[in-house]
Amino acid sequence: MCGIVGYLGFREPLPIILDGLRRLEYRGYDSAGVALNRNGCITVRKSAGKVAELAAQVESNPEYAGARAGMGHSRWATHGEPNDVNAHPHVDCTGRVAVIHNGIIENYAALKTQLQHRGHVFASATDTEVLAHLIEDFLRTTPDLYGAVKASLREVRGTYGLVVMDAHAPEVMIAARMGSPLIIGVGEGEHIIASDAAAIVAHTRQVVYLNDGEVSEVRPDGMRTSTIFDVPISKEITNVTIELSQIERGGYEHFMLKEIHEQPETIRNGMRGRLRVEDGEVKLGGLEHVRDKLVQAKRIVLIGCGTSWHAGLVGEYMLEQIAKVPVEVEYASEYRYRSPLVGKDDVVFLISQSGETADTLAALREAKRHGATVLGIVNVVGSTIPRETDGGMYVHAGPEIGVASTKAFTSQLTALGLITIMIARAKGLPREEANVLTRELASIPDKVARVLAQSDAIKQLAQEFKDSRNFLFLGRGANFPVALEGALKLKEISYIHAEGYPAAEMKHGPIALIDEHMPVVFVVPKDAIYEKVLSNIHEVRARKGQIIAIANEDDTEIDKLADHVIRVPRTYGFFGPIVNVIPLQLLAYYIAVARGTNVDQPRNLAKSVTVE
Ligand code: GLU
Repeated sequence: MCGIVGYLGFREPLPIILDGLRRLEYRGYDSAGVALNRNGCITVRKSAGKVAELAAQVESNPEYAGARAGMGHSRWATHGEPNDVNAHPHVDCTGRVAVIHNGIIENYAALKTQLQHRGHVFASATDTEVLAHLIEDFLRTTPDLYGAVKASLREVRGTYGLVVMDAHAPEVMIAARMGSPLIIGVGEGEHIIASDAAAIVAHTRQVVYLNDGEVSEVRPDGMRTSTIFDVPISKEITNVTIELSQIERGGYEHFMLKEIHEQPETIRNGMRGRLRVEDGEVKLGGLEHVRDKLVQAKRIVLIGCGTSWHAGLVGEYMLEQIAKVPVEVEYASEYRYRSPLVGKDDVVFLISQSGETADTLAALREAKRHGATVLGIVNVVGSTIPRETDGGMYVHAGPEIGVASTKAFTSQLTALGLITIMIARAKGLPREEANVLTRELASIPDKVARVLAQSDAIKQLAQEFKDSRNFLFLGRGANFPVALEGALKLKEISYIHAEGYPAAEMKHGPIALIDEHMPVVFVVPKDAIYEKVLSNIHEVRARKGQIIAIANEDDTEIDKLADHVIRVPRTYGFFGPIVNVIPLQLLAYYIAVARGTNVDQPRNLAKSVTVE
């Protein structure tokens, strides 16, 4: 969610800042701005809309050249509408202090009133602007910006990734973090501060991750860090492993399409070194030390939001049926506010692509407070959730840039499959039975590739349905969450209203919606409840609904019932959802493209939701 880029060094800051903001566009935002320090004077330019619009105003404009330091922001509005004035950077009354901020200052209203009483005049409706005025206030009694920022942050409640500039000190920038990620890239005689490694890796791979409550004073050739309470901290420099090619489109029209096509590879990456196919064994280094806890758990709770919550629903089938452990799946945002009955015999998995999802992080802390073992299933390496859990596993899908999650979902399912096999084996599942599962899991990447080979046919189908107003997605068992995910993908990027339902539940309500204008997508593999789903298809057909079936390659019945059939390979057990979701991702993608929406940055959405 929203982006931060700050540059301090020997190069012209503006091109680096704009390039960084472009690389962060995928996170979702509504306005953008820059602040540059030229000759001891801060120049700010900001505008609603895209980074390209901002760039057109500042690039090759001599007024913005020759700066010593600068920073840029892409805002995802929380307080105050997305317009030019509310865009960041925000400045104090004198124009000396400039601030960019991700997150929410929760006590901003009280602070604003106090500051107004002291004569400060506010320009915007944002919570962020109080920071600029608060720092201005402290600069009257504190000798330097570093001290003034720390003093200000001691007054603040809420979350922030923050960068502050002082017109009087062009060689210094202050970075601070509380609940909103901030990374400092370390170069030779230069530093880049950013909210996401994607804005840094074109310049350096050496980074320092700030932790919550830490503040750094950054100069071109060095930095120092302390807590907001002035306790010095020595920070370690680590290497980011992301390749530039991973965060570029590589010939695909959209990141989402690239990521859909990467799935055979990303699923394989998630299993590499972990799956011992012939032994029917799974080795998960990050869970080894909690193996006994997992085996003895009275209950496993899977917590996530959006697509990650859908992954949890599939995980419930895997873990209950194969590993024989009771499972509950929870929305993170609901979990934390209802005093959950959870304790030391429970194992809680937090599922999050970014590892920064605010609701999931809060649920993690709630479960931890109650003494549960908390574990992460996360994609972004070094993010907050893995740093606060007792262990867990990275899903290794690589950077996911498209806002609508695709490859992270199938990697989460793969991770849950691995965890299931590991627990089942530890509980005594015989090797021969486990071997069937490990072989099946190992076969998934090829099966996914087989579905991807049908992209053209799905593209054609999308043309036919691009003007639909509504869509229904139905599935049963572990494919019910696949139906939910199919509906979510479609609404996220095409803005068509879509609902996912358990197929048999349809007759208890949604059936009222069915007529000749309602496309209904059935996920109907040949499993134990195949016949039951066929009955549900008959019910839709009898009411003239248009039927699109996701069915197995060897299903000969289905052509008689469905208007359109997309074939998927048969997949044993509960790994089918990993394959069956692929055509739904493609269908959503091609419908959105046919409707001309902004696929990679759908309206109102952000990639990692770091506000509650
Ligand atoms: N709460 C701030 C605002 O609305 C920052 C939003 C963001 O994280 O971009 O301006």
